[in-house]
Amino acid sequence: MNFCSNCGARIVVRVPEGDTLPRHMCDACGTIHYRNPLMVVGSIPEWEGRVLLCKRAIEPRLGMWTLPAGFMELGESVAQGAIRETLEEANARVELGEMFTMLSVPHVNQVHVFYLAQLLDLDFGPGTESLEVALFREDQIPWKDLAFRTISTTLKHYYTDRKHGAYRMHADEILAPRTPLT
Ligand SMILES: [Zn+2]
Repeated sequence: MNFCSNCGARIVVRVPEGDTLPRHMCDACGTIHYRNPLMVVGSIPEWEGRVLLCKRAIEPRLGMWTLPAGFMELGESVAQGAIRETLEEANARVELGEMFTMLSVPHVNQVHVFYLAQLLDLDFGPGTESLEVALFREDQIPWKDLAFRTISTTLKHYYTDRKHGAYRMHADEILAPRTPLT
């Protein structure tokens, strides 16, 4: 950010009085432009033991598979966001269960939250951000072609818990890879 979105003056970066971190500040109008992590919210839609995945039609990771998820909007709850994203990306209606994973991704300033979910019908299909939407058995999951580590982490917890007969919530940190794209 170079210019103030409030008044158009040039931005300076420094630690405000009483604060501990450098901020984007406008000395002309006094606005401090705080930047904070973004929430990505989604679901794990299940139907008779299979899980719904979407093939991405957009960058990043075009052509790779993901659970339906996206950025939370202003004015909605986490659960509402997860239901909306599932509808937008997969045209799928779900009933949410418990929150299942909450994954901090500090190197991209995001928090990803996934809910257990029950598909309400099989009338789903790709939304504008998906090329394809399909149900997968565990042995069909395209582990090598999953779009993000938050997706593979969520699915690994899901199948481990399913084996043990009980789902519990998992809060993890996804740290920056030591080498790119590992
Ligand atoms: Zn300003």
